[in-house]
Amino acid sequence: MPGWQGSDEPVGLTDWKNELRQAFTRPADLLAWLGLPATLAGPEAMDGFRMLVPHGYAELMEPGEPLDPLLIQVLPQAAEAEAHPAFVLDPVGDSAAALGPGLLQKYQGRALLITTPACAIHCRYCFRRHYPFAQASLGADGGAEAIAGIAADPSIHEVILSGGDPLMLDDPALAAMVAKLAAIPHLERLRLHSRLPVVLPSRVTANLCGTLTQSRLQPVVVIHANHPRELGPVAALALGSLRAAGVTLLNQSVLLRGVNDDPDTLTALSKTLFRHGVLPYYLHLLDRVQGAAHYEVPLPAALTLVALLRRRLPGYLVPRLVREEPGTASKIVLA
Ligand code: SF4
Repeated sequence: MPGWQGSDEPVGLTDWKNELRQAFTRPADLLAWLGLPATLAGPEAMDGFRMLVPHGYAELMEPGEPLDPLLIQVLPQAAEAEAHPAFVLDPVGDSAAALGPGLLQKYQGRALLITTPACAIHCRYCFRRHYPFAQASLGADGGAEAIAGIAADPSIHEVILSGGDPLMLDDPALAAMVAKLAAIPHLERLRLHSRLPVVLPSRVTANLCGTLTQSRLQPVVVIHANHPRELGPVAALALGSLRAAGVTLLNQSVLLRGVNDDPDTLTALSKTLFRHGVLPYYLHLLDRVQGAAHYEVPLPAALTLVALLRRRLPGYLVPRLVREEPGTASKIVLA
C-alpha cells in the first residue's frame, strides 16, 4: 500500500517467533493443559510428523472437550497407523509435477514454489505430511534454479508460494523472494497459501503487509480455515490488516469428519470469513494421504452438505467443492 510504514510491530499481541518457540510439541502437555487424559493421543511422532500447536490456537479450543474440532485437527491419534491401501504417500502427484528442486507445475500458467518445509502447526490430515522436503525444497541458493526456470517460461503468469508454509520465511527472506519474482516481466500475480494468519496471526506484521503489497505483483493470500472458531480476535486483526494493505483474501478448507462436516459449521465458517474480508474459495475433499483415512467424508455426504449451503447462503459464500486428482489439467469441481 502506498505510504505503508514498515515495522516489525506485530498486529497481534505477541511476537510470532517467540510464540512459535513456546508451541505445544508433546500431546501429553496439550491434553493436560486442556484438562484431558493423555490416553486420548496416539504415538507422539507418527511417521516423524510430530505434534505442533501454537498456544494461541490451543486457547481457541474448549477445555475438557475431547471432541473439540480444533483439537481433532492436530492431535496425533492411533488411527493414523491403520493401513488403508487407497491412502498413499503422495496423493496429489507432487513428485510427478516437479520441474526441479522446489518447483512444481500442475496447471497451465501457474507454477508453485516449495519455499520451506516448516509450518506453524501440524495438521494431521496434511497432504504433504510425507513430502520429501529434504530433497525437494528450494535449495540453499535461495531458489535461484527454480526462479530461473520461471523466468525462462513466459507462459507462467502466477507464482504460488507454498510449503510447508511460506510465511514461515522471515521477512528478509520473503522480501528477497518477492523482489526476484517481481523482476520477471511475465509474472502478474503472487499467491501465497498460508495457514499462519489463522493459527499464528502475530506473523502478520506491518512489515509483512508492506512486503506483500509494495511490489508490482498483485498479491493474493489463500488462508486455510476449517472451522469458524479458528478465526479468533487476533486472526480477525491480522486479516483486517492484510485486507487494508490491499491483499485479496480467499479461504480454502478441507472437509473433515468430526471437524466441519455439518451444515451449521460450514455456514458459520462462510459468514465469519466474509465478516473478516475473506471469500470462501474451495472446500476440498480430503486428499487420500496415508494416516488420514479417519478424517474422510464420503462424496455423497459432501454433495448433500454443499446443496444445503447453497439453499442457505448467497452464491458468493458457497465454496466450490473440489477434489485434486494427479495428472489432471485443473482441480475437479464437484459442486
Ligand atoms: S499448515 Fe498446511 S502445509 Fe502445514 S501441516 Fe497444515 S495443511 Fe500441511
